[in-house]
Amino acid sequence: MQLKNPAQKHIALVAHDNKKKDLLDWVKLNREALTMHVLYATGTTGHLLGDALGLPVTRFQSGPLGGDQQIGAKIAEGAIDCIVFFWDPLEPQPHDPDVKALLRIAAVWNIPVACNWATADFMITSPLMAAEYVRNVPDFKEHLERFGTKG
Ligand code: PGA
Repeated sequence: MQLKNPAQKHIALVAHDNKKKDLLDWVKLNREALTMHVLYATGTTGHLLGDALGLPVTRFQSGPLGGDQQIGAKIAEGAIDCIVFFWDPLEPQPHDPDVKALLRIAAVWNIPVACNWATADFMITSPLMAAEYVRNVPDFKEHLERFGTKG
């Protein structure tokens, strides 16, 4: 099955506390490229980014209060096209299961996820960021029939 991502991407931005400065620096450097897209973020990250960018950022709950899960739900709805998620590999988080769930649902729906600065650089400079992109996703028809649910 294929799904279309528009040229104007809906990007979710998330950073754990020790990585917030890195994400802020990264968005400042890439502000111009980000202006054409629609931005979302978890609560605290979004607050900081809104101030730094002066651009509208739709904010979800703070990550530990469910923000990561809200982003996951938006992915399942087809409302998020890619994620820049600077997670902290050196410190356990109270919401580690939510982090894992977010990364899992992004993999299910074949959503690009940049988990560090270098990958985010590759992502934002890709010509595909500003173009329509047809994304392959698994054909869930058999799964839906087996479990009797509708997509
Ligand atoms: P925050 O959440 O932006 O509210 O700090 C990020 C996270 O920890 O997932």
